[in-house]
Amino acid sequence: MNAELARIHPDAHCELDFRTPLELTVATSLSAQTTDKMVNSVTPTLFAKYPTAADYAAADPAEMELLLKPTGFFRAKTKSIIGLGQALVERYDGEVPTKLADLVTLPGIGRKTANVVLGNAFDIPGITPDTHFQRLVRRWAWTQESDPVKIEHAVGPLIPRKEWTILSHRVIFHGRRVCHARKPACGACALAPWCPSYGDGPMDHDVAAKLVKGPDAAARARAAALGLPVRSAEEMVALARDESS
Ligand code: SF4
Repeated sequence: MNAELARIHPDAHCELDFRTPLELTVATSLSAQTTDKMVNSVTPTLFAKYPTAADYAAADPAEMELLLKPTGFFRAKTKSIIGLGQALVERYDGEVPTKLADLVTLPGIGRKTANVVLGNAFDIPGITPDTHFQRLVRRWAWTQESDPVKIEHAVGPLIPRKEWTILSHRVIFHGRRVCHARKPACGACALAPWCPSYGDGPMDHDVAAKLVKGPDAAARARAAALGLPVRSAEEMVALARDESS
């Protein structure tokens, strides 16, 4: 399943925009209870106004609240980010630390956020059991745990350590695009041959294909309508092109 995930989501990546570890730390802590797209819509202005940890530490809360308002819970997020800036300046010379144990002591940074930062800003492998990851690995019977830390520990030994970060992105992409919480698109899912939960969602090709989201959704729908096996986005685009020529 891991190999197939790699085939069907070759574009899996961190969807938060960032250039530095500090930017990713701030963006990830802002992503609670909102979408990455929403975070990406506010961070260009935020990052330009507060380029360093010291700038966050000295920020005027009312000004930052205005910027963060679209992301929801903006008062709590403002407090966390100013606190984060202060903690980084006081304890880490304004730099984001590279150890999980240090990261989780920072305001607004839980284990999940810390793993996102380690994996994507420092290339230190980490599993990120967000809501999609938790749902999918249980559907695949990789674990029956519900606690995120226990899930991390259960899934970690199943996959080579160096793949933990990219696995997290692939699983999250699959959760966002195909294996939805309420109606998984089983009939348009390339993982169906291995999935013990196949049938939790519509198995009919046409019905399932309409549930698929993402930039390759049209190609998936086309392949499914033709009764073709659903493979990677590139393969499906090629199949649809061949069919129409
Ligand atoms: S077959 Fe269905 S339940 Fe299994 S991964 Fe695919 S969409 Fe999810």
